Amino acid sequence: MSARRLHVLIFGAVFAAAVVLASLGYLSLRRWEHAAELQLREQARDTVTMAAEKVEMAVVRAEQDGVASLQAAALAPGFGPAAVDAWRAAHPLFDAVYLCDRDGHVLYPVRVSPDDVQSIAALRGEISEGFWERGGRRHLEAGGRVILAAVIPGASGPGAPPGPLLLGLRRDEQTLRRDVLAQVLGGPEGKSALVVLDGRGRSVFSSGSLESAAPVLTVPFGEALPAWRVALYQPAGLSPRDMVRRQTVIFMAAFALLLGVIGAGLVATYRLQRRESEIARLKSDFVANVSHDLKTPLSLIRMFAETLEMDRVPDERRRREYYGVITRESERLTRLIDNVLDFSRIESGRQRYDLTVGPIEPIVHDVLDSFRHPLEQRGFTLDVGIAPDLPDVAVDAEAMKQALANLLDNAMKYSADRGKITVVARAEQGGVALEVADQGIGIPVAEQERIFEKFYRVGRSETQGRRGSGVGLALVKHIVEAHHGRVTVESRPGEGSRFTLYLPAPEPGAV
Ligand code: ATP
Ligand code: MG
Repeated sequence: MSARRLHVLIFGAVFAAAVVLASLGYLSLRRWEHAAELQLREQARDTVTMAAEKVEMAVVRAEQDGVASLQAAALAPGFGPAAVDAWRAAHPLFDAVYLCDRDGHVLYPVRVSPDDVQSIAALRGEISEGFWERGGRRHLEAGGRVILAAVIPGASGPGAPPGPLLLGLRRDEQTLRRDVLAQVLGGPEGKSALVVLDGRGRSVFSSGSLESAAPVLTVPFGEALPAWRVALYQPAGLSPRDMVRRQTVIFMAAFALLLGVIGAGLVATYRLQRRESEIARLKSDFVANVSHDLKTPLSLIRMFAETLEMDRVPDERRRREYYGVITRESERLTRLIDNVLDFSRIESGRQRYDLTVGPIEPIVHDVLDSFRHPLEQRGFTLDVGIAPDLPDVAVDAEAMKQALANLLDNAMKYSADRGKITVVARAEQGGVALEVADQGIGIPVAEQERIFEKFYRVGRSETQGRRGSGVGLALVKHIVEAHHGRVTVESRPGEGSRFTLYLPAPEPGAV
């Protein structure tokens, strides 16, 4: 199986796994969402039911206490309206008290208003014979108000009304709200509010602010508060549904992030892998190019040396020319081998530069001298402009010669013959700028960054027809950067290129 197919297979598998994971995650999230909402709802219901029971219990207890104390008063000698008035003063929860005997005589209130008549009639109408016998308590509604009905034993003694007595106690809503509801439901309840609604759905009491809150659920009270209900209000965003939604969104976002990371990982791996294989390809090109570059000068040297050795060249001028070729080709070989050796030292981190502050001209002249002959041979015009009074800079002379030689070599290699090559040295910001410009083939803008990468060559070497190992500019870059400088390129395809090395002024105190 080809490496490409293997990659597609692996990426496909990871992608499919991610998709399966995503859908499983989504499904279980939905299920969880449902269950969580139910549970939150259940919890809310428990809260409200408990609150309703607490209120109911408090009401029943207050009523029991009231009935018990009135019953005690009724058993005391001399019980009459005055005693009931005294009792009422002590029990503000009830705003009306009715007492009547079995024959229908109203013992209290003394003056009966039409309202009272209606209540008493309702009271008597609801009470069966059995209730008179058995005693006990029950709640009934009259005129929209709740009245507690109870049968209490009558008083004994002279002048006292004969028992048993029917007692009716009407609750005062104001006091109920203040003494019971506020006591039981009040206090900090968090962000939600409990609201008590009466039989007509009006809010009687609320334990907190209802601003931007919505009812979540409603639970009825028991028998003590017939038709009344308690409702749980929660601010928008706090209701079980909203809370679950928010959790779900957070989960989904986390999940999406996870998938994104997996995706980014895939892409990064793919890129890395592609880069690796490109470097592998470049490396094999490099080996082929270096071998070729070594072979060409070697075979030239050998050919000319053999010719000379066999004394086949009678002409002195020719002989000189052959010696020249041998010298030039060995120089080229040296440069190539230096390049490769330095490159390998740089790669293994063993390259050291020895910077010494000094003039730059001798270095430039040295390099130009070694190129003069080959340039002439190939019909190049060399234009040199070295500014006078260049400042001294800190350089490693050998390394700088190598960098310049690489630029000149490129200028020659990537020009058609008979071009013009310009070398300029000028002062710049206290340091020196060295320019090598040609009128050669130029470099496409998109490639101008990459040519400084190791092994990188514009186009395939075969199609270009110019051999090279692709490490020359990587070396140049490494060398100038070791000099705390930089290298730039300006170039237009078909018009030529200009490479500039900037070497900064030496730092004060540098040797
Ligand atoms: P070598 O390691 O032998 O120098 P090389 O010349 O191919 O090999 P570099 O000097 O690093 O490698 O140059 C990288 C590439 O940049 C070249 O292959 C060439 O495509 C492009 N290049 C460099 N200098 C020039 C130039 N003056 N004009 C046009 N293209 C250039
Ligand atoms: Mg080169």
